[in-house]
Amino acid sequence: MAPEGDREAQAIQPRYLGLARAELSARARTARSLMRACRSCPRACGVDRAGGEVGTCGTARLAIVDAAFPHRGEESCLSGWRGSGTIFFAHCNLECVFCQNWEISQIGVGREYAADELASAMLRLQLEGCHNINLVTPEHVVPQVVEGLVAAIGAGLRLPVVYNTSAYDALDSLRLLDGLIDIYMPDFKFWERDTAARLCGAADYPDRAREAIAEMHRQVGPLLLDDQGIARRGVLVRHLVLPGHLAESAAIFRWLACEVSPATYVNVMDQYRPAYRVRRASVPRRLAKDAAEEADDRAEDLVDPADRSADRAAGGLAGRQADEFRDIARRPRGEELCAARAAARAAGLWRFADEG
Ligand code: SF4
Repeated sequence: MAPEGDREAQAIQPRYLGLARAELSARARTARSLMRACRSCPRACGVDRAGGEVGTCGTARLAIVDAAFPHRGEESCLSGWRGSGTIFFAHCNLECVFCQNWEISQIGVGREYAADELASAMLRLQLEGCHNINLVTPEHVVPQVVEGLVAAIGAGLRLPVVYNTSAYDALDSLRLLDGLIDIYMPDFKFWERDTAARLCGAADYPDRAREAIAEMHRQVGPLLLDDQGIARRGVLVRHLVLPGHLAESAAIFRWLACEVSPATYVNVMDQYRPAYRVRRASVPRRLAKDAAEEADDRAEDLVDPADRSADRAAGGLAGRQADEFRDIARRPRGEELCAARAAARAAGLWRFADEG
């Protein structure tokens, strides 16, 4: 039977309401201990974040939040008519060369939030009427998220919680979240290790994403919508269609249908556009001049020093980047988007977000 519009889903309560107070306190303690010799995400840097050290993700003891607001532009099953209570975390454990939010993910625009401030933000979004709490880019701040959630639950949080992730997640972190998260929304980006190494700086991304999505599905199963079309529990997989990468899209869809479930709810996204290192001319206007210069420095840091002198001889960093990512320096064509959607159906998937 189709899980959409299930009347029983109407009665589904957030999973954390089934956890005893002692269990919630234990989760918060475990979360704090994870920050010493940090292995909160697959980078496994081993730094002492509790002691102020910083790993690849650029975040130490406290999470940095860029914004917290009712988001009306997410999938309709999340935004509904009152918005999705979105909390955007700054920094990221990936370095996607086309990131459209790179001033947040790579520079870390925002300010530090202690656990009680995170809890207050969640409770404010609940008071504003949001349908859920939507944690965006949380992979590197799972300990801080757990601390904040435990505090918010103790103070009266009653909304389902969405974990909105790149899927570059550590299994230990996902297990710590088991029972706290109602809706997992992983973005499965690349199928090939070479592509992942080149475009997000993590060759193991496809392996970690498969493990993570399987674990998410084990915890919450396929997406359940209530009779008003609002998501209450389950997995929603996003896939951003890249130009010229249809074979990887098709492999991802086949894996989802065969190894996870053909009832997996999928958003085949058409929003890709060249940004960040793929199109450096797209520097957002909101960036202050010094932040833009910092971004330039960071982009240069990402280049192998051995390449740099040859790069300068060839005309500079911008020229090199334009060449390196020329294959994805365009939007996907209409026929590529149609072919990706057809590949998803051919794989056996049948539940798609926001289709007529
Ligand atoms: S969360 Fe940050 S410090 Fe911890 S392992 Fe990942 S990148 Fe390293």
